[in-house]
Amino acid sequence: MKPATSDGNSLLARVAIIPFLVVTLLFILFGLFFAGTSSRMGAPWIFPVFGVGFTVVALSMFLVGLLGMFAPRNPSGSAELPQDADDVLNPPESAYRSRQETRACTYCGTRVEESIHRCPNCGAGV
Ligand SMILES: [Zn+2]
Repeated sequence: MKPATSDGNSLLARVAIIPFLVVTLLFILFGLFFAGTSSRMGAPWIFPVFGVGFTVVALSMFLVGLLGMFAPRNPSGSAELPQDADDVLNPPESAYRSRQETRACTYCGTRVEESIHRCPNCGAGV
């Protein structure tokens, strides 16, 4: 695994999941221990069932955390959002702005800029 210097945020997110995984792993061990011990001691059936259920819940939490840690992420994921926002905001708008800023004079049809309110050809107000 190479040190991802440009990917510090998602690396931090991956490292931050480790305590969560450790805790859920302890929950799994506790659930197994609880289920095994209670059934060996002849406790009512609810105790081992609780232990197994506890283990299943903790195991699913552990797997979710593990998947979140190793799920393939776009390496440029942190830089992608601003880029997308840039694409949405800048090029299309500037592309059709030049078209939108002119309109045809209602009298002679001359292209008149949006900011000009009097036709330069026929003098009609637009
Ligand atoms: Zn005109």
